[in-house]
Amino acid sequence: MSEAAQTAVKDDTERLETNAVSVHFEGLAALEDLSLSLGKNEVFGLIGPNGSGKTTFVNVVTGFQKPTRGTVLLGGLDVTGWSAHRIGRRGLARTFQAVRLFRELTVIENLEIAAVGMGLGRRQAEKRAFEILAWMAFAHKAYDQADTLPYGEERRVGIGRALATAPRFVLLDEPAAGLTDAECDELMQLISRIPKDFGCGVLLIEHNMRVIMGVCQRIHVIESGKTITEGTPDEIQSNPEVIRAYLGTKSEKRRA
Ligand code: ADP
Ligand code: MG
Repeated sequence: MSEAAQTAVKDDTERLETNAVSVHFEGLAALEDLSLSLGKNEVFGLIGPNGSGKTTFVNVVTGFQKPTRGTVLLGGLDVTGWSAHRIGRRGLARTFQAVRLFRELTVIENLEIAAVGMGLGRRQAEKRAFEILAWMAFAHKAYDQADTLPYGEERRVGIGRALATAPRFVLLDEPAAGLTDAECDELMQLISRIPKDFGCGVLLIEHNMRVIMGVCQRIHVIESGKTITEGTPDEIQSNPEVIRAYLGTKSEKRRA
């Protein structure tokens, strides 16, 4: 781990925080007074049934969606309403539920472009891209064209690309969707190492409870855009309200 990363891990004063964020879409309250706060040394889970506002939350924090009310603070700085590009430059990176790689380009080019977008020169961008591919045991595929990758690997490159921007926080929107159990294991390993190795906090949205419970230090649960509770994996798993709202919904869906 670099010296800078070590300092970052020790210094947990830099947080990503939202205060009473609400998003209304013509009468529909997608988010209602959502406040949460995560540090750079943790993997923080955000869970809730489909349509509960998780992606909307990521959109607000990363500047893809303006909140109706409330504020987003990054390291104490109010970044509410900033453009996605400006927020990205300030240190927030995300992945999308649907992978969006440049399919005609190689794996390493996909990472390099992200790094260049943050202001790195070509040489530095290439170096950083290589370091990240090596970190995720993917250097052997650096020169494969992105559209030749199987789905699980494509998703992994999506995370690599987010990390190539040297973020202070990365927001992962359902990264395990469609992965096999073995791929989920690899993903869990990777996600767990992000805070320590990059000095970068992780907000993890995921339906796969094994992944969530396995990697998060704290979990925030929402339903219909509102907070139900927040706690450790043990607290969340034994919370009757969570079981009703979230785990209950899932089993109903399975029956459907
Ligand atoms: P989740 O990611 O938890 O499944 P979303 O954040 O995607 O939930 O959606 C929350 C709610 O907001 C849903 O009811 C969804 O239909 C609605 N919604 C999301 N984006 C828009 C939009 N751009 N316009 C109108 N409604 C939206
Ligand atoms: Mg979503």
